[in-house]
Amino acid sequence: MRQAYCRSAGEDIRCDAGNLKSGGYWIRIQIPAPFNLMPDYFDTQIRAALANTGLQEALDANAERRIEARLQANAALPNHQVLRRRAHSVRASTLAKLDEYLEQFITKAQLNGLIVHRAADAAQATQIVIEIARENNAHLVAKSKSMISEEIGLNHALEAVGLRVVETDLGEYIIQLRGERPAHILTPAVHLSRVDVGQTFHESLGLPFSDDVPTLVAAARQALRMVFLEAEIGITGVNFGVAESGTLCLVTNEGNGRMVTTLPPVHIALMGIERLVPTLDNLALLLTLLPRAATGQKITVYTNLINSPRRPGDPDGPRQRHLILVDNGREALRQSPLAQALLCIRCGACLNACPVFREIGGHAYVGLRGEISTYPGPIGAIISPGLFGQSEFGHLARASSLCGACKEACPVDIDLPKLLLRVRAGGIKIDPGRAKQTLPGLVAIGIRAFTWFSIDVRRFRLAQRMLGFFSRILAPRSLWMHLPVFTGWGYSKDFPRPDLRSFRRRWMSRQSAISVIRESRDSLDQLSETSGDESSDYQSLATRFAIELMALGGEFTLCSRSDLAQYILKILHNHNIGSLLSWETDQLPNSLLEAIQTAGIQVSHDLDPSIRAGLTGTLAAVADTGTLVMTGGPGRALFSSLLPEVHIAILRTSDIRESLPQVLGMREIQSAASVVLISGPSRTADIEMTLTIGVHGPRELYVLCLDE
Ligand code: SF4
Repeated sequence: MRQAYCRSAGEDIRCDAGNLKSGGYWIRIQIPAPFNLMPDYFDTQIRAALANTGLQEALDANAERRIEARLQANAALPNHQVLRRRAHSVRASTLAKLDEYLEQFITKAQLNGLIVHRAADAAQATQIVIEIARENNAHLVAKSKSMISEEIGLNHALEAVGLRVVETDLGEYIIQLRGERPAHILTPAVHLSRVDVGQTFHESLGLPFSDDVPTLVAAARQALRMVFLEAEIGITGVNFGVAESGTLCLVTNEGNGRMVTTLPPVHIALMGIERLVPTLDNLALLLTLLPRAATGQKITVYTNLINSPRRPGDPDGPRQRHLILVDNGREALRQSPLAQALLCIRCGACLNACPVFREIGGHAYVGLRGEISTYPGPIGAIISPGLFGQSEFGHLARASSLCGACKEACPVDIDLPKLLLRVRAGGIKIDPGRAKQTLPGLVAIGIRAFTWFSIDVRRFRLAQRMLGFFSRILAPRSLWMHLPVFTGWGYSKDFPRPDLRSFRRRWMSRQSAISVIRESRDSLDQLSETSGDESSDYQSLATRFAIELMALGGEFTLCSRSDLAQYILKILHNHNIGSLLSWETDQLPNSLLEAIQTAGIQVSHDLDPSIRAGLTGTLAAVADTGTLVMTGGPGRALFSSLLPEVHIAILRTSDIRESLPQVLGMREIQSAASVVLISGPSRTADIEMTLTIGVHGPRELYVLCLDE
């Protein structure tokens, strides 16, 4: 990146220029104060963010990796655009009948044994949590990441009545230690370097300074382990509630969400009233799109489906589960022209895609009085004024170039630019007639000319060619440098050389490239379907499952029942492990535990955090995503697949299903108290986007597949 200072009206304007990876080009200009219409606090934060080179690097690294991962994941998904539109319509139709679905959801959840509360605003929501904590004589609360808890200021309210609240998502834990607010809805510590985190751990936890990411992650794992085990209350958000079954769905990569919903005796789930989907089939659709948009993953590592509290005979799970449905301005927003913002599934993709967010980061999005907005980026610039007031947060919508990158990135196809314009217009629908009357004369002529060219395909193409031609002539840098009006600009930055091909032609060629990728993928699928040799390794579901699992960092072994014990003993021997936290005998293949015990391994079925390996069976697996499916219940402790460093799972080839909807349609998914979908070992990328395995859950996952 280069910088130059240009003289303009007697003031310095700083101009930065650089090339985007995509081949595009950007220029950043700091506008002198007299021409700046932003409120003071917002303006100050923006200037500070732009001057912070460390922040700029962190935001660029985050955005580039996330965007690349998202594009790759979406390109590999057949019919991505169709699925996206379907998701939009599912979310929109749910919102349109929200009252009906809420009633159905609440009835089902109560029948399942959940205690359901409704909170009209932040004060009511925090008061309900405080009362539950008092009734249960709680002192320590373990929290999983939840934007709605940020929105209602939950930590502050709980700490004010003497409760100790510990954030357990690594990024949230780091910023809690620093007394900061999240800088991103998905990666709260995106603004910090590994050195910052090392210094924070050194000062707050008394650990020797280190900037080694695995060392820092291991330190957090150790510090938080006792919190999970000792907390009397676990608090989480809810990604989706399923109306037909009363199910709560919660997704996390680290495993802290599983810990918080499994270990403490009381679980409180906070959910915005809009986070509903009608059916489990709809849920499968959104679970397909959410992780791809958020992190480029096919599926999040842990997907928890929670139906009820612990039942008689269950070895784990909280004895009380509370669900607090929070309105806090949502119903009013639903009745407003900004209602579409409620379709949001909080993936964070629009933040990463936004060229403004990439420059200023989340902490620059501040209200009129300087308070950091809970929701930053394009969606934050709509949700914040929508929920908390146009006068307080309406100015955030000015921090947008309206380039449309946010809409393109959004997995539920929210028309964010249109909503941003509505916020700019004061939160009301723009009346085109009124807008026309107030336009200055030259702009009106320009718009009329543009309209004339753009409503006819032939005229539009002609205009594109003409513009391409003229800009090509004007583009050479030498020419710019010799025009007096541009002197100085030509020295400070390269003007992009326009492509002779029109945007339309370039777009068409990109589309055809994408369709080639899709066609080859379809051919591959067709080949598999039509060849008819179902026993072939290449075609089998087991092989597809194995490929996906190994891509996620898991290990796959196909074995016979008679070899099973030997494989397990080998894994334990390789890790020098002498005891096993296991499901009960009747939930595993006959005589397996006896054979293991005979070899000198101690087997326990009770919660023991010192045991380093866990053994479980599985209900099913998903070939498309390399996912294991486990239901809790008598003899099937979920902590066996959660607490140990090494998880060994036994699967039968006949239990592998093709796709997520097939698994979510299984009867056992709705009847179990709790279900977990596991896709590889626990992971995080919360420190400098460095992928680190084993933050809270197991570091290693071995699947022993019985070929039956
Ligand atoms: S508006 Fe769309 S892209 Fe942005 S966070 Fe919400 S779902 Fe994701």
